[in-house]
Amino acid sequence: MAVKCGDIIRFMEEFAPPRLAEDWDNVGLMVGSREDEVKKVMVCLDVTPKVIEAASEENVDLIISHHPLIFKGLKRINREDFKGKIVMDLIQKGINVYSAHTNLDVTDGGINQYLSQVLGLKNIKNLKEYKIERLLKLVVFVPKESLDTVRDAMSKAGAGWIGNYSDCSFTTEGIGTFRPQEGTNPYIGTQGNLEKLEEYRVETVASERIIDRVVSAMISAHPYEEVAYDIYPLEIPGKEYGMGCVGEMGSAMQLDSFAEVVKNKLNAGNVRVIGNLDREIKKAAVFCGSFDNDIMGLAKSKADVLVTGDVKYHDALDMLQMGMCVIDAGHFSTERIIVPRLVEILKKKFSGVEVMSNNVEEDPFKYI
Ligand SMILES: [Zn+2]
Repeated sequence: MAVKCGDIIRFMEEFAPPRLAEDWDNVGLMVGSREDEVKKVMVCLDVTPKVIEAASEENVDLIISHHPLIFKGLKRINREDFKGKIVMDLIQKGINVYSAHTNLDVTDGGINQYLSQVLGLKNIKNLKEYKIERLLKLVVFVPKESLDTVRDAMSKAGAGWIGNYSDCSFTTEGIGTFRPQEGTNPYIGTQGNLEKLEEYRVETVASERIIDRVVSAMISAHPYEEVAYDIYPLEIPGKEYGMGCVGEMGSAMQLDSFAEVVKNKLNAGNVRVIGNLDREIKKAAVFCGSFDNDIMGLAKSKADVLVTGDVKYHDALDMLQMGMCVIDAGHFSTERIIVPRLVEILKKKFSGVEVMSNNVEEDPFKYI
C-alpha cells in the first residue's frame, strides 16, 4: 500500500509529540500535503539549498529536518529573499518538509538521550524537569463475544501499562440500551426498536501520546457501527520528560581525556573546553544545541561536566568562575548525530519507503 506523507507524520508525532515542543518553537509540516505519496525520505539537520539540491537529485518526496524550515514569521515568499527562494524551490520541486525540533530534543530516544548513549553514559536521567505526560482512562462498551478481541487490540496498540505490568484492564457486566434510528445498519437490533442487551464495560489506561492509535485499534476491532467509548484524564502523573540529561561515565577520567572522547564520538572538528583540564570527571550532563542560564546552574549542581554547544564568551567566563567544567562540541555536532539515528528508526518502520541521510550538510563553522 502506498505510504502517504501523513502516515510518516503520524509516526513522527508519536515518536516526538508536537506538544513536547517549546511554546516559542515552530514544528510540524512546513511545506506540502499530508496526502502526498512518499517513496523517498531524506533526513537532515537543516533544509539548506544544498540539501534541497541533493533531495531533488534523489527524487525525494519528503525531507525531515530537525531545525524548523520556517521559524520566524515569513512576511513574503519571493525569490529576492533566501528563505523565500528555498520555500519556492521546495514547492516547485514537489518536496514536502516536516520539522521536529525541541520535541525531538526531549522525547524518549530523542537527541539528548541518544547523545548521552553515544557518549557512553549510564543510568541516564533528566537534567531538568520539563513536561509530564497525561494519563488517560479509556472506557469502551463491548458485547460479550468481542470482549477478548477488543481488549487485545487495545493492549497491542500500547494501552494497559501500569509500571512493568502490561495488558491491565478491568471489566464489569451491565445492560446497555440503544434505539437504532433511520439510516443505521445495526450489528444487533432493528431500526426504531429500543434494544436492551448485556454489554461489558472494559476500562484501561493509555498515555496521551498513544491514545489516537489505541482508539483507532479499538474501533477497528469493535463490531458496532457506532462504538460507545469515553476518554477522561487522570490525576495520576504519567511519564516525565526532561530537558537535557545527566548520566554516569563508565569510569572516571580527566576533563581533557573526556573532551577527546566527546570529539571522537561526535565526529566534531574541534571542541572547546572550559575548566581545569586535569579535573577528574565521573558524571556528565548533556544538552544538545544551545542552553540557558538555568541549565548552567543545574549542570553545576548535578554533574561534573556539561557537554553542550554554542557557549558564548561571557557565559564561558561565568562558568569558569563558577568552577564548572564544560565541553562545547558545537551546535552542529551535538545534534547531527540524530540524522543517521532517525534514518534507522524510519527504515525499520517503513520498509516500503527508501529513507536516506544526506552527505551535503556540514557545520557552518570551518576549523582552521
Ligand atoms: Zn539545534
